[in-house]
Amino acid sequence: MKENTVPADPLIRSARREEICRIFGESYDPARWNDWRWQMRHRFIKPEQFEELLRLTPAERRGLTMSQEKFAVAVTPHFAELIDPDDPACPIRLQVVPREEELLVGPGDMTDPCGEDHDSPVPGLVHRYPDRVLLLALDTCASYCRYCTRSRLVSQGGLEPLPRRLDAIVEYLEQHTEVRDVLLSGGDPLLMSEDRLDDLLGRISAIPHIEFLRIGSRVPCFLPQRITPELVAVLRKHRVWLSLHFCHAREITLEVGRACDLLADGGIPLGSQTVLLKGVNDDVQSLKELFHALLRIRVRPYYLYQCDPVIGTGHLRTTVQAGMELMSGLRGHTSGYAVPTYAIDAPGGGGKVPIQAQTILEYENGHVNLRNWAGQYYSYFDPPEHA
Ligand SMILES: *Cc1c(COP(=O)(O)O)cnc(C)c1O
Ligand code: SF4
Repeated sequence: MKENTVPADPLIRSARREEICRIFGESYDPARWNDWRWQMRHRFIKPEQFEELLRLTPAERRGLTMSQEKFAVAVTPHFAELIDPDDPACPIRLQVVPREEELLVGPGDMTDPCGEDHDSPVPGLVHRYPDRVLLLALDTCASYCRYCTRSRLVSQGGLEPLPRRLDAIVEYLEQHTEVRDVLLSGGDPLLMSEDRLDDLLGRISAIPHIEFLRIGSRVPCFLPQRITPELVAVLRKHRVWLSLHFCHAREITLEVGRACDLLADGGIPLGSQTVLLKGVNDDVQSLKELFHALLRIRVRPYYLYQCDPVIGTGHLRTTVQAGMELMSGLRGHTSGYAVPTYAIDAPGGGGKVPIQAQTILEYENGHVNLRNWAGQYYSYFDPPEHA
């Protein structure tokens, strides 16, 4: 079992924060640390900054100097504090510190694995399913996940600023009365100012047939300081649901717990998406700890994604067989609420396909042979058919 390295002792915590602030030539000041704009201005971006933060391996050093132009590097001080400076296998570190393996292209690797560009009727809108769309709001994030499925757009200036695209998006949504659900993602929509977010949500919810608005965001994990009462008020006003993104129990810090309390107390329904990553969370114990920690802060695990075959992510991916075995170690063994749907976003644009180990062994003449979570066999009989 991996130990949680966030020291519980506030004195030790502030000692690490002191070190982090010193890298930026400042001293630790709790009020500044808790200001999300300060966090954004003091992100770890340059190789020299990482050199002071961590004991880098040669593979990381090369990754930091070479991967910048391919996919931006940034880590908030909040998230940087969670990295073990001496352990290159630290599950937090693997998610945000690039390695030279990112430059490898494996068989089947793609720049746009989910075929989103193909299903995009107007720039920044993906319409794949009958009744819902994905709206790419902006192309920046608080920190960059090395396995990002949208690394082709995110941080690359691959998206025009939203104000220039929004009229076309709204017009498309107005014409497509079958769309009832809009998922805002990106990039991270919660990096917008309250006013801009309020305007955007207002324009979308003014469309009569749009009845369900949700935002996908990793801000509560990377930058919990951003979750302010003012932001919660905007989300509540537009009755937004939030899909958060967490990969490891160590991410559920005191600050994250407080941010999620603000959201949950503010009436915002909270779900979470997790990407299955080699060395980060690919064992039953790590997943259980994460999902239990999420339930404790009132976040319902929603999806566990098989990592998309984005170019340069081979070193972070597991097999599907491993994923199925992990799911079998969860279902039935713990609260159903702690068990997300394991899914593959089918490469080429097939959408999310839920994956489960076989539970129906045979189904013939209304007779269903089942295998339960403990590996025992049961039968179910369909009702008799009425001719
Ligand atoms: C994930 C996704 C959605 C939302 O899917 P749900 O299963 O409803 O959460 C919608 N559109 C696209 C393109 C997606 O990738
Ligand atoms: S927060 Fe989401 S969009 Fe941003 S880098 Fe991570 S996976 Fe990509």
